[in-house]
Amino acid sequence: MKIEFYGVRGSMPTPGENTVVYGGNTSCVYLELSNGNNVILDSGTGIAKLNAKFKSYKRPIHLLVTHNHWDHIQGFPYFAPIYSKDTTIEIVTGITDSNDTDMILKQMSGTNHPVKYNHLPSSITLNTQLAHQKEFPLNGFNVTTQPLNHPDGGTAYCLTGDNQKVAYVTDNELKPPYAESSTWEEWVEFIKDADVLIHDAQYTNKDLPLKHGWGHSTHEQVAELAMQANVTKLFFISHDPSTTDAEIAFQEQELQHRLKNKLSLAWAKEGSSYSIDTQAFSNITAKRAQ
Ligand SMILES: [Zn+2]
Repeated sequence: MKIEFYGVRGSMPTPGENTVVYGGNTSCVYLELSNGNNVILDSGTGIAKLNAKFKSYKRPIHLLVTHNHWDHIQGFPYFAPIYSKDTTIEIVTGITDSNDTDMILKQMSGTNHPVKYNHLPSSITLNTQLAHQKEFPLNGFNVTTQPLNHPDGGTAYCLTGDNQKVAYVTDNELKPPYAESSTWEEWVEFIKDADVLIHDAQYTNKDLPLKHGWGHSTHEQVAELAMQANVTKLFFISHDPSTTDAEIAFQEQELQHRLKNKLSLAWAKEGSSYSIDTQAFSNITAKRAQ
């Protein structure tokens, strides 16, 4: 399976000289099987970087959305294929408390965006019920779901294909002060033995006193979870918008040093792609895209 990161920033886009290494676009990850079947995860501003890949794409496009916070849907109006009559898109929406499952389209109401969603020439199917299922097939992948611990809820997805397992868990607070939608033990079970875990880790321990309950996890909490669940490779995502490249590089080096030989982890970089060749992390090869 191939993994490509197109947007890794949390909360809001952060262009500028301090984010050129890790990237400033909001959540969007692309997974592709060896036979070419693929799924897009979330449509933050990073999804616009997929426009070239899908320019002449003739097959249905599959998009899995975790929840409707801006940083997970705001790139959708700029995803060029939606303006082509030849495009078919199937969107699976996450399960949220406010049940505003069509928000990804309704943001194109004329108020926030000049083109109204009901004027789009493409054929868009919105599946608002599928994520209620614990397991379902999607374009060659087997998908399992788990409710996120996050204000207004949302859905985490685990995708299996090519005999490999990738878990996409964002935004998620592993140890919230409010009633959990999923317990620590359920998260361990959900991501158990994953080849790759992509998990929100927006906070440092210093952030917690102020931000406990805001719906995100710390680096240490996510690393602990990954180790308990026997994850091969961990990527942090949903980077804090105020954190600079230099700060992330420092945090990454420090945590990698502290966990040496216990866990392989990295902060996801926008524009990076990986292929999982075998179960062993050493064979996950990184190819930095331009
Ligand atoms: Zn969120």
